[in-house]
Amino acid sequence: MQLKSALRKKGALTIAATKERARSLREYKRKRDFAKTPEPQGGKPKGPERLFVVQKHRASALHYDFRLEAGGVLVSWAVPKGPSLDPKDKRLAMAVEDHPLSYARFEGVIPEGEYGGGTVMVWDIGTYRLEDAETFDEALRKGRIVFTLNGKKLKGSWALVRTGERRWLLMKRKDRSAAAVDIATAKPRSVLTRRLLAGIARDEGGDIAKAATGDPG
Ligand code: MN
Repeated sequence: MQLKSALRKKGALTIAATKERARSLREYKRKRDFAKTPEPQGGKPKGPERLFVVQKHRASALHYDFRLEAGGVLVSWAVPKGPSLDPKDKRLAMAVEDHPLSYARFEGVIPEGEYGGGTVMVWDIGTYRLEDAETFDEALRKGRIVFTLNGKKLKGSWALVRTGERRWLLMKRKDRSAAAVDIATAKPRSVLTRRLLAGIARDEGGDIAKAATGDPG
């Protein structure tokens, strides 16, 4: 009982502290004309964290769908060999159609004969932020998107650079998280369920033999 009442009290204090913080920030804003002062307004983070996902997809050919949230959709590239932590490995990334945000956690089987028919795995998921002081659309138009990933497998600084109409290169930039590792091969399992492609196909009624060709031999 003592513990319960202590926890209740702690909860009440947390709520009071939150209300207090909100009130004092309103006061801070009320007192300032942000058109005239260089002080920060607070609230909006400068580089907002947005969603990224990499889906391993054994369709007619194996590839990794690399997706970045922007403008309420997942802007997407198909990367045949998948990402590499080695800055020397520049990986071809073909621009493909935008996907809905809700697609990010899709793991399962697309029926054979349908578009993209085959097994899909959530290979990595997390957040990213743009590194340069420009919008996503500006970077996309320029053909050079530089961003920091905070995923379970992929971290640190990365770049997508356009080399043709739909052709881009995905590359790791040099930093502490760079390594001479082909992570697509080294870490082949789903970050959501720890399954390999064959396991997903087995559980979801897909083509197990076909899915298994995308798993390490
Ligand atoms: Mn795909």
